[in-house]
Amino acid sequence: MKNRVGRIIVGLVFLFFFGIYFYKQLGIRTFSDDLASWGEATGFHRDTVETSGSIGEQSAEQPAAPAAPEQPAAPVETPEPTPEPLSFDLSSWEYMLVNGDHSIDQYAPAELVYLDQAVEALDIQTSYNPNRVAVDARIAQPLLDMAKACKDAGLPVWLSSGYRSYSEQAANFQRICQNNGITDGKDAKGHYITMPAGCSEHQSGLCCDITDKYREIKNDEIFKTDTYAWLRDHCAEYGFILRFPTGKEDITGVMNEGWHFRYVGLEAAKYMTENDLTLEEFWQRFGPGETAAPAV
Ligand SMILES: [Zn+2]
Repeated sequence: MKNRVGRIIVGLVFLFFFGIYFYKQLGIRTFSDDLASWGEATGFHRDTVETSGSIGEQSAEQPAAPAAPEQPAAPVETPEPTPEPLSFDLSSWEYMLVNGDHSIDQYAPAELVYLDQAVEALDIQTSYNPNRVAVDARIAQPLLDMAKACKDAGLPVWLSSGYRSYSEQAANFQRICQNNGITDGKDAKGHYITMPAGCSEHQSGLCCDITDKYREIKNDEIFKTDTYAWLRDHCAEYGFILRFPTGKEDITGVMNEGWHFRYVGLEAAKYMTENDLTLEEFWQRFGPGETAAPAV
């Protein structure tokens, strides 16, 4: 009897341990199916992997969280730089307004320089030279650059007239009025053909009459020349504008002149050309109003 009971106990204990062993074996197989086949394929021993714990844990016991669905990359926004509000300081010298309503009285440029009229010599002389054209020193280089570029394009250039003093303009005015039988310097349409002293832009030294060759009289013939066409198309690249264009006579008050180019600086020349503005319209847009333009 005792033996029987003893055998049963031993059997139960055996079954208990066998059960635990069997359960453990089953558990390992269950959890390591993927790892076993991966180990066979690579020759990597399963025990090594289990010891290290990292791969086994990741692939079986703690499966990695499903990867978040890939979001399309947000487009990188490169915001357009906000353009600065365009403004011009009209008290700067380049914008000096001189016309029939805005006399500069006895103004004279602080520094005059003298350029070769045929633009064969490119030097800028600082002492008075009656055989050269005088301009405000500040526009000499851009004027030379423009004239030289025009010549380089194969076209003749003649710097016809630059700075004129108050007294020279007074003499001009008197002579031209006499020759045309007028007293106010205006043609039949009321546009100036010659300016009273103090009202000519030439007195500022910031402009130059440019023709293809020396011409005793400057008239509409200039519009037929390639030199005029080139200057009209390229002057803004050098900071100049065609000051008295056709069709704007009622605004400028001056008959169209295809030879009169005025320096206003690169930025303003570009703006005025692109927007088809005369200097008067430019002042109306950016200044306190034409009537408030300060006399210089
Ligand atoms: Zn002129």
